[in-house]
Order: sequence, then structure tokens, then C-alpha cells
Amino acid sequence: MSEPLVIVGNGMAAARLVDELVQTALGRYAIAVIGEEPRLAYNRVLLSSVLAGETASHDIELKPAAWWRDRGVTLKYGCRVTAVDVGRRELKIAGDESVEFSRLVLATGSSPLRLNVPGADLLGVHTFRDSRDVDLLLALAARKKPVVVIGGGLLGLEAAYGLAKAGTSVTLLHLMDRLMERQLDVPAADLLKSLVERKGIAVLLNANTARICGTTRVEGVELSDGRRIEADAVVLAAGIRPNTQLASDAGMTVNRGIVVDDRLKASAEGIYALGECAEHRGVCYGLVEPAYEQARVLAQQLAGRNAIYQGSVVATNLKVSGVSVFSAGDFQGEEGSEAIVLDDIRRGTYKKLVISEGRLVGAVLIGDVGDALWYLELIRARKAIAAIRKDMMFGRSVALAAKAA
Ligand SMILES: Cc1cc2nc3c(=O)[nH]c(=O)nc-3n(C[C@H](O)[C@H](O)[C@H](O)COP(=O)(O)OP(=O)(O)OC[C@H]3O[C@@H](n4cnc5c(N)ncnc54)[C@H](O)[C@@H]3O)c2cc1C
Repeated sequence: MSEPLVIVGNGMAAARLVDELVQTALGRYAIAVIGEEPRLAYNRVLLSSVLAGETASHDIELKPAAWWRDRGVTLKYGCRVTAVDVGRRELKIAGDESVEFSRLVLATGSSPLRLNVPGADLLGVHTFRDSRDVDLLLALAARKKPVVVIGGGLLGLEAAYGLAKAGTSVTLLHLMDRLMERQLDVPAADLLKSLVERKGIAVLLNANTARICGTTRVEGVELSDGRRIEADAVVLAAGIRPNTQLASDAGMTVNRGIVVDDRLKASAEGIYALGECAEHRGVCYGLVEPAYEQARVLAQQLAGRNAIYQGSVVATNLKVSGVSVFSAGDFQGEEGSEAIVLDDIRRGTYKKLVISEGRLVGAVLIGDVGDALWYLELIRARKAIAAIRKDMMFGRSVALAAKAA
């Protein structure tokens, strides 16, 4: 008989894990996926395109209903798991139903951080995490009233872009002195800011939100330096927090995320975690690629093979507010490293390659990202680059042709 394997969360990591599992361990498990969102797993990354009106919400499903059915996966969606009983091997679902498991995978993702300032609970304060949020933001955009977006990372920029594209007047507030400071150096962030401003988005840096003003509804935002921005709504995009409550209530080890070892095992027997809710070697990733790498390893483990996960070299390769951005590895450049830089602000292009001990160790690209995956490959493979160094900046084809000549 197949062993009952339950996955909590029906997001991107869960869908990829099932995809890997049906290839590696077909028939070994009776798989059930329980997810809180009331729809089939979808590509969360594409929520930005849905908000920008470039993709329809029903087009972002990762797999059609028939795919899940044909592989014998039991899907329960619109169901929140409220407790895990490790000893009795049982889950509780809101509404008092319980589900038994032999092995359990937690793939519960993250939640947006709520700001700890007065007014954060007012009507008109939104977040940007799931398709229900996007429905609300689209309704907000249709009203064309001024909106403040708090947070100048990827999500804040995407929310600002989507709303501005729909004709809303948007002010983006960022606490730090540059946008996307965890992915971009100062010149790249400055260029991104000017490209974003060209789309009609007002960007305020060093902007520390002191309170969200209003009595029942949002009327504006006040900064700690006294500035006030009038607004009808606020979108909070100031970070995420891994969803760890189930694991911590069940007595598993949790730091920022659910602590897992190199086999993606949590601290309780037969229980695993992956994706944004997991913490591996002290790192919680907030991107899809690491979740997919973890899914591959966990599927191998569950199939009885000896795979291990050693962490991911994180790369950001995306369109931010319509601008192509890539960042990977040590893009700042540690002491002793060298940088090759091409800075063409008028054409909206910036490229920086960081080299250390004869290897490419980091890169930032804005505008022209055509060679991003090649640079990423070089960084990951830690290949010696002496033979291509002088032409590397001009891309793969130029560098390899020059090397062959
Ligand atoms: C708008 C947006 C744009 C993004 N763009 C990019 C990008 O360009 N590149 C990139 O790499 N990453 C991007 N990300 C991040 C990426 O989407 C996540 O890294 C990825 O979805 C993580 O997968 P996950 O399965 O761990 O979490 P999720 O996809 O969030 O799935 C977790 C699921 O678990 C469910 N859940 C939680 N608790 C429970 C419970 N108790 N019971 C039942 N179900 C539960 C949640 O409802 C959710 O559906 C973006 C995210 C957003 C929101």
C-alpha cells in the first residue's frame, strides 16, 4: 500500500515537489496537498504581470486540474491547516477535520510583514502576496485615487508599476538610501530609480513611515521627518516573514524559518520543509529557484536516494517595473576583488562584473540582461576566466569568438 504523504501549502514549492515526486517515486506515496488559497497552484511570480494587466489571472496556473487528477494527487484547497500532531501523525484542518500522515512536508511560504506603526490596521491598507490581494489592488487601481506603496524592494516596485500603469498616481517610499539595496549597488540603484521615475512613479528614499493617517480609512502617510503624503490607500511591501507557526506550535526547531538539515528534514521524524518557510544553514530564501532546487533534492530523498542540498547561489533575474534587472553573487565586491564596469546612463544600461582570484564572483546588470544566464553559469561553476576576461563584458558570443580567434 502507498504511504500517506501530506504536503501543507499549495504554492510553487509544493507543485514542483509533486512534479518531481511523480517522476522519481511513482506509486510509493499516496500524495495529498492541502492549501489555504481557494484555487489550484499558480505561478506567484506572474502576479506582477496580472497586476500590470499583461496576463490574465486564469492563465497563471502551474498545472491544469487534470494533471493533478491523472497523477492521483488528492487536492484540498481553500483549507487551512491549523495544527500538526507529531506523535499521532495527524493534521487538523480549520472546521475540525483531521488528516493522517506518515510523512509530512511543510511548504507554507511566507506572509507580508505588517508595519508596526499607528494606522497599519486602517481600511485601505493592502498587501501584495496572493491572487486575492491582486484582485483588491486591481479594484483599487480602477478608482484612480493616489496610492502610497511602502517598500522599495522587488515587490514594492512591482506593485507601484502595476498601479501606475493603470493610471493611478503612485508614491513609492523606501526606508533605505537606494532601491533594492540587497540586489543592487549604488549606480545600478540610481539608474533603476531614474527609469522608474520615468514611468511616472514618485520615489522617496530615506523615507521612514511614522504613521498611516486616517480615522477609519487611509488618508495619508506621515514620515518621521514630518513629510506627509496624501493617499487614499497604502500597499505594504516592506518584507516577508516565513510561515512557521504550525512547526513551532508542534515543537519543531524554528529560527526565522523552520530549521532543516541538508536533507530538508525538520527536527521531527518524517517531517520536512522547503521553500520560503524553510531555513537551511541559517538562510531563508525568498525566491523561486532555491525552492525548486530544494524540491529536486527532497523528491530524491523521499524516493530513498541519497541527495543533499548545499544551498543556492542566489540570482535575481527579472523585470522590475518594466526594467530588466539581474544581480547575482557578490555584486558589491569584497576587499581584494576587482570590478569591470560599463555605465551608459543615457541608454539605460549598467553592467558590473566582479572578479576575485581570477574568477567571476558577482554581477549586476540593468537594461541589457541578454547574457545574464551565462554570467550566472560562470559564477556558479567558479571557472577561471583569464582567457575571456578582456571581452567578457561584451557578452558570451564576443568573448568566446575572441577566445577562439
Ligand atoms: C508578486 C510577487 C512577485 C514575485 N516575483 C518573483 C520573481 O520575479 N522571482 C522570484 O524568484 N521570486 C519571486 N517571488 C517570490 C516567489 O513567488 C516565492 O519565492 C515562491 O512562491 C515561494 O514558494 P513557496 O511554495 O515556498 O511559497 P508560496 O508560493 O507562497 O506557497 C505557500 C502556500 O502555502 C499556503 N499556506 C500557508 N499556510 C498554510 C496553512 N496553515 N494551511 C494550508 N496552506 C497554507 C499559502 O496560502 C500559499 O498558497 C514573487 C512573489 C510575489 C508575491
